[in-house]
Amino acid sequence: NNKRKPLVAGNWKMNGNRSLVTAFNDAFENNAVDNVDVVICPPALYLSAFSTQAFALGGQDVSHLDNGAHTGDLSADMLCELGCKYAIVGHSERRDDHGESNSLVAEKAKKSIASGLTPIICVGESLDIRESGQVESFIGEQLDALVNGLTVEELSKSVLAYEPVWAIGTGKTASPEQAQDVHEFIRGYFAKVDAELAQGLRILYGGSVKADNAKTLFAQQDVDGGLIGGASLKTEDFISICQAAN
Ligand code: PEP
Repeated sequence: NNKRKPLVAGNWKMNGNRSLVTAFNDAFENNAVDNVDVVICPPALYLSAFSTQAFALGGQDVSHLDNGAHTGDLSADMLCELGCKYAIVGHSERRDDHGESNSLVAEKAKKSIASGLTPIICVGESLDIRESGQVESFIGEQLDALVNGLTVEELSKSVLAYEPVWAIGTGKTASPEQAQDVHEFIRGYFAKVDAELAQGLRILYGGSVKADNAKTLFAQQDVDGGLIGGASLKTEDFISICQAAN
């Protein structure tokens, strides 16, 4: 994968508790993962309970605004203050549960970068879109909003994640070829914007990545690591997925 450093991020979603935090602190102190950027995105309440330097922390979402009367939302500066280096934006569950639009996702990415966070920007199609043969036009629209809202410099500070919605939490992983096809499309899309940007852009695959399928997915030319849901909740599984990216 050229010179792009692999990245594996775990998204705990609304799962886990203090004892899982302790298990991750301990497990990573005892198992080195070399040459891979590892990120955990726990529920934000638990961010301050992590004590290890073995991985970076990220938010699962972030507001596009600085502060104010927005009950329940968290700002990029707050995440930074709690030690985050990353924030997931545009996860399909946020898009579905909270009606987040392509342009809002771009604003969230922009705000993250302004605060010094690396956004992990999620895109991906539903089964309907795939079955009707519209994958590239659908994802192209998600990417258009990013290119319209962010400068090339901002995009170069971002990470993309391709997450086919039909593969998230379903146990149906995209085949390595299906993943590679879309990753190649995404990189090609950015190459038309700026060749150097496209070359350096890390594009993660997400959707039912497990310890036993990670290696072949990560071996694809344009797959630079993964965004992991369910399998990020068990220390052993997550560590072996991280090691598979090396
Ligand atoms: C996700 O929600 O980002 C995800 C990839 O979930 P899972 O690994 O459980 O499919």
